[in-house]
Amino acid sequence: MTRRLLDLVTLLSLLLCLGVLALWARSYWVHDQLQVCAVDHWLILHSTSGVIFVFDNHFIDSQPFRLVWMRQPQLAGPALPDVMRSMVRFGYDGSLPSSADKVLTFPHWAAAVLFALLPSARLYRRLRRREDGRCKKCGYDLTGNLSGVCPECGNPSHLRVKLQP
Ligand SMILES: [Zn+2]
Repeated sequence: MTRRLLDLVTLLSLLLCLGVLALWARSYWVHDQLQVCAVDHWLILHSTSGVIFVFDNHFIDSQPFRLVWMRQPQLAGPALPDVMRSMVRFGYDGSLPSSADKVLTFPHWAAAVLFALLPSARLYRRLRRREDGRCKKCGYDLTGNLSGVCPECGNPSHLRVKLQP
């Protein structure tokens, strides 16, 4: 059960990573904006020229739920100096004037790396297990296993025969 959940989270993380990479490429041609309004917060996500901006506006009154997606073509397309600048565009400002209460700024690549961490770690572990002669699913030591099936979890072994010296 826990394993299934971890698999699901890993898959989700991988999909998010690929999604952010696609959004990154798109951001040089299209400025995407997603607005989510719920209760007393208004979250606005901008994806433009290699950078993601997250604005968090706070309302005094409760607002009806609203989800709006807008897109706008970028006129110039990618330019090398802008691309270079966007790579190091990290920031947080919690003391903005009335326009927004807080804004978080980060490049697309940083989000992609974050989402790639879990899938990479699990892939690395899987490959290590394979090299060690362990079951790639549960890590059980398959040295001397002749059946071709992991006795611990029932996973068909990738090591058909590995005899002890
Ligand atoms: Zn196993």
